[in-house]
Amino acid sequence: MKDERFAGIEPFEKRLNLSTPTMHGDDERWVVEAIKTNWVSTVGENINVVEAEIAKLTGRGYAVGLSSGTAALHLAVRILAQELYGIPKTGHGSLEGKRVFCTDMTFDATANPIAYEGGEAVFIDTEPETWNMDPEALEKAFELYPEVRLVMLAHLYGIPAKVDELRAVCKAHGALLIEDAAESFLSTYKGVQTGCFGDISVFSWNGNKLITGSSGGMIITDDPAWAAKARKWSTQAREAAPWYQHAELGYNYRMSNIIAGVVRGQLPHAEEHLAQKKANYQRYKKGFADLPVRMNPYDAVNSSPNFWLSCLLIDRAAMCFQSRTDTAATYSTEKGRSCPTEILEALSAFNAEGRPIWKPMHLQPIYSENPFVSVHGDVSADIFERGLCLPSDNKMTAEQMDSIIEIVHRCFM
Ligand SMILES: *Cc1c(COP(=O)(O)O)cnc(C)c1O
Repeated sequence: MKDERFAGIEPFEKRLNLSTPTMHGDDERWVVEAIKTNWVSTVGENINVVEAEIAKLTGRGYAVGLSSGTAALHLAVRILAQELYGIPKTGHGSLEGKRVFCTDMTFDATANPIAYEGGEAVFIDTEPETWNMDPEALEKAFELYPEVRLVMLAHLYGIPAKVDELRAVCKAHGALLIEDAAESFLSTYKGVQTGCFGDISVFSWNGNKLITGSSGGMIITDDPAWAAKARKWSTQAREAAPWYQHAELGYNYRMSNIIAGVVRGQLPHAEEHLAQKKANYQRYKKGFADLPVRMNPYDAVNSSPNFWLSCLLIDRAAMCFQSRTDTAATYSTEKGRSCPTEILEALSAFNAEGRPIWKPMHLQPIYSENPFVSVHGDVSADIFERGLCLPSDNKMTAEQMDSIIEIVHRCFM
């Protein structure tokens, strides 16, 4: 960077990406095994083992391996929509004319499955203590839309939401809960893993998650009928018959045995990845103690996050001018202040990748007509404006992290 505030800092030789896969050799072993034994398909031992291990690890009755977290969320929505409303004869649009309450500040994969089924997501504002769905706003949403019976909840960046409060609101209004635990594998709330709180819960094995299969996802539930539906619908919904007999709409959403091999090899290393992510968070927290910022917050009494991504929130008083349109951002350099755009640009100039906070769904053009319910202004928009994700790879060295911490400091000079 030409800016003399950054004098003396060297760019990273190799690009430091946000969060990358970490292979250990076991992953390769199970992939090779699948190939050698010719189980190169959507059936095989790797899938069976991964399903059994996830069910055991979470203590839930059933785990069903699928092609992605998004596919898992789609089937979860469809299964619970059928439970609540029945499926229309055409098979399409199980949520036609229905509303679903949904986390607002999240990856769009959380919300899209509601639209796949023709439903309307009503986005619920964020609370500032864990950056997840605000239980007060959820309560208000039920007052505004008392007919709603389905809630979609994500745990952002691996930080558990206010689960007890949210579940109490769902229960009081007779609503079912889908838990999107794609980012929060192994995070716990009151000693219980995320993935255990939804009527149906979902994990993702996408390439940048805590552990990966390259892609892949999973449904976890205690209900045998729902698990059976996920299995059936994910493999084109065949009936028991000598030919391809179809009474229900099917999908090609089953997990591959090759991908399951990668997940199988990763599972024994998940806790190790978590410990590295936690160390990242703690090093950043200490490194930024003297700046007008704070890390993404969590409830240290009740929850133990997986620290998937480390994030920063800049104090309002320490924000420089920043302006964002739908596709671009500008800012002005100001002494003693900074903003996410400046920090992300500086990191990028030194060959490191950060990321803006997930742009809230109610600010996305695709969902601009959907309702948004909040009780304390627009907390999602505020966090989006002032927050950012820091490089969070579990393989970063202490020296690399210290350079990042230094670059962020220089932004405030
Ligand atoms: C990654 C992610 C998903 C989607 O998972 P894929 O396996 O990539 O389809 C869903 N929700 C959230 C919150 C995610 O971060």
